[in-house]
Amino acid sequence: MKIGVLAIQGDFAEHILMLKRLGVETAEVRLPRHLDGLDGLILPGGESTTIGKLAVDFGLLDPLREFGKIHAVWGTCAGAIFLSKDARRSQPLLGLMDITVERNAFGRQVDSFEADLDIAALGQAAQASAPYHAVFIRAPIIESVSGDARVLASLPDGRIVAALQGKLLATSFHPELTQDTRFHEYFLTLAR
Ligand code: GLN
Repeated sequence: MKIGVLAIQGDFAEHILMLKRLGVETAEVRLPRHLDGLDGLILPGGESTTIGKLAVDFGLLDPLREFGKIHAVWGTCAGAIFLSKDARRSQPLLGLMDITVERNAFGRQVDSFEADLDIAALGQAAQASAPYHAVFIRAPIIESVSGDARVLASLPDGRIVAALQGKLLATSFHPELTQDTRFHEYFLTLAR
């Protein structure tokens, strides 16, 4: 099992550390050829406009789209925005996942917060019964899911913060910034 992390901007190093803790082989993806031989790819948090523009500059947009048609891809926060079909403004997107997102939906950086979520999909992983402590940093919400995308997690007020479509996973929050490996373990089951 080898998982790549898009490493052009954002907190890719934290994802790589998490994967290493789980004993997974990792690769930093900066060029199309770095996708060769990967079983899955993580798009980290950061700044989605920057990630999109750099992906265009590095000739990555189409190779990433082709990769995501077959393989597991997980976007966290800015990565989830980049994965989406619609971010309600003009910026380069992969457009792979049938979700519409609203950027910075909770306000500014100072409005970042943490929340405990019940996520049934994590049931198979260790510590299954514990609530999932999610970190939101200038996060988007997933306004709506369509096609065969489905909701994986919501806040108590019903706003969607995680979604799944086949092997495509989107989370508004940052599992790589916690010590809880359940979400990464869950992604590995999608990539397998
Ligand atoms: N606010 C960023 C964006 O819209 C996402 C922030 C993050 O990834 N933590 O791209």
